[in-house]
Formats: sequence, structure tokens, C-alpha cells
Amino acid sequence: MLVDSHCHLNFPELAANLPAIKQSMLDNQVGHALCISVTLPDFPQVLALAEANDNFYATVGVHPDYEDIEEPTLDGLVSLANHPKVIGIGETGLDYFRLTGDLEWQRARFRTHIQAAIQSKKPLVIHTRNAAEDTLRIMREENAHLVGGVMHCFTESLEVALQAIELGFYISFSGIVTFKNAVSIKEVAQHIPLNRILVETDSPYLAPIPYRGKINQPAYVRYVAEEIARLRGISFEEVSAATTENFFRLFKHAVQ
Ligand SMILES: [Zn+2]
Ligand SMILES: [Zn+2]
Repeated sequence: MLVDSHCHLNFPELAANLPAIKQSMLDNQVGHALCISVTLPDFPQVLALAEANDNFYATVGVHPDYEDIEEPTLDGLVSLANHPKVIGIGETGLDYFRLTGDLEWQRARFRTHIQAAIQSKKPLVIHTRNAAEDTLRIMREENAHLVGGVMHCFTESLEVALQAIELGFYISFSGIVTFKNAVSIKEVAQHIPLNRILVETDSPYLAPIPYRGKINQPAYVRYVAEEIARLRGISFEEVSAATTENFFRLFKHAVQ
């Protein structure tokens, strides 16, 4: 059994096709999926997916790419996280690739999420792009190690991965690891400990080979696991078992 640790099933490309998507998960032994919130207005849809399906879970958070929207407060996040199907806080983090200029508001929002995670005792789902140094600095300043979490859709260096692992975080690989030119990400997938690896789709985006460029879906997380198995010279079953065990160890509030 596999777990898709990061997907956006409430996005229209996927929400319109849920019965087929769930069947495809079954056919590919993808047992569970974590549905990730990106704004406060979309959280009710994300939570509804988790409430309607035993094997779906939800997070609550506001993505760093959304600038002019309702800002989450510490108390607001903590109270929304107080639900048995909400197992993590995010996605949150820093993105200096999509947005430029004065991004102090992104860093402040990230700090609020870390504080909410610590108060809720629910792990963080962190998005970081072109901002590894500031991401790790803020994680240290806000004591993110107290709650841990996952660096999702990891595209940074081995050095950054090892620093995040030292802070008690897991590293999640998406379909990018299957791309031929993703040499340094493949290297990270080979060298970090297996007991710190998660797999995800980030669907509807980033479909792995052989579906690159198409709409992604949780069932395709098997191609991510297959590539990690190939890179490490171990079996697909070993990667499935380890990444699933890692998911439930990290997200203690998820009932298997
Ligand atoms: Zn992300
Ligand atoms: Zn995402």
C-alpha cells in the first residue's frame, strides 16, 4: 500500500472526476491521500473530502504564493486544526521563485503556521522554492523541530535535505524525481535515509513519467515510488512499505 502525502483533490481538474480517481487509487494500491489546503476559503472543500472518505485526510494552511487574500491568524489556524481529520498544518513556507519584491509578509505568514503547528501538535507541510536558506533559518528560529513535518515536493540540494532531517523533518518526492534532467533530486533520493522519505503527487500538477504534461492524480504516486526503488536498487514493495510507515509515524493523528 502507498500513501499520496500531498494532493489537491478539491481543484477543479480533479474534483470533477472523483469516482474514477478513487477507483484508480484502488487499482494501484494507493490506500490513502492527504488533501492539502492552500487558502482559507478552500479549506471547507478540503475538509469535506476528508470527512466523506475514510482514507482521505486534510491539512489547513495558506500557501505562500497567494498574496492578496485573507491572512490566517494563529488562533484561527489552531481552531480550524482542531478536527480529527485535520492531521497537519500547511501548505506553508516560502516561495521566492513565483513572487519577488518585499516578501516579509510571506515570512510572517510562515512563522504563524509554525506557531500554529506547535500549539496544535500537528506536523507542518512545508513548500520551499528558491528560498532554502530563509526557510531553514525560520524553522530554527520558530523551533519547528518541536513538531516536525515534511518538506514537500523537494527540489533542493542534499545539504538542505540533511539539515531538514536534522530538524526532525521528512523529505517528500514528487513526479519530478522521474524526470530525466532531475539529476540532483535523484541524488537526494539515493542518499537520504529511507526512513525519512515520503512520496506524493502534488496532483493535479507535476505528473510523473510516463504521464508528464498530463493531469496528475494520486494513483500515479506509484511511479514516484518505482523510481525511488530503481535509484536505490531496492524493491518497489520495500519503498511502498517504508514510505507508508513513515507517513503514519509522522502524522500520528492519521488513523490507518
Ligand atoms: Zn507546494
Ligand atoms: Zn501543493
